Amino acid sequence: MGGNSPCASCKLLRRRCAKDCIFAPFFPSDDPHKFAIVHKVFGASNVSKMLQELPVHQRADAVSSLVYEANARMRDPVYGCVGAISYLQNQVSQLQMQLAVAQAEILCIQMQQDAPLVNQQMAMEPDDKSFLLHNNLAALPQFINFPSSSNVSQDQPLKRESLWT
Ligand SMILES: [Zn+2]
Repeated sequence: MGGNSPCASCKLLRRRCAKDCIFAPFFPSDDPHKFAIVHKVFGASNVSKMLQELPVHQRADAVSSLVYEANARMRDPVYGCVGAISYLQNQVSQLQMQLAVAQAEILCIQMQQDAPLVNQQMAMEPDDKSFLLHNNLAALPQFINFPSSSNVSQDQPLKRESLWT
């Protein structure tokens, strides 16, 4: 016993913590869970090998990514952090679909507005769609559900129903 307290790894593995212990800089004794979870998922000797293969300045990053992966693997034993990645990728593609639908709706509305006899106040240039998308999204529902009496003259047949079905 050298007097200095062993790092979390050596404590868990019940061994003497050498001065050049590869775990000591990253697994302090006051955070035993951090090493325990990495040891459980990857195994202490594998973690040691991985760290030894890395230049010293990259080891801290490697440890935090191993800790992240180990935590994800505990939460989701099948997919680990891939589960989080594919969940987020799904979300991205769902949002892209919603965006495409919204842009298509905007185009339909603009085509209706470009038709003759439509209220001039609502007419927009075709390339104004980005303006509508970015600045006027809150007004979109009222555009979609506008009552036929206020904005469109009664004798102008509204082709909205046929567009949406
Ligand atoms: Zn140690």
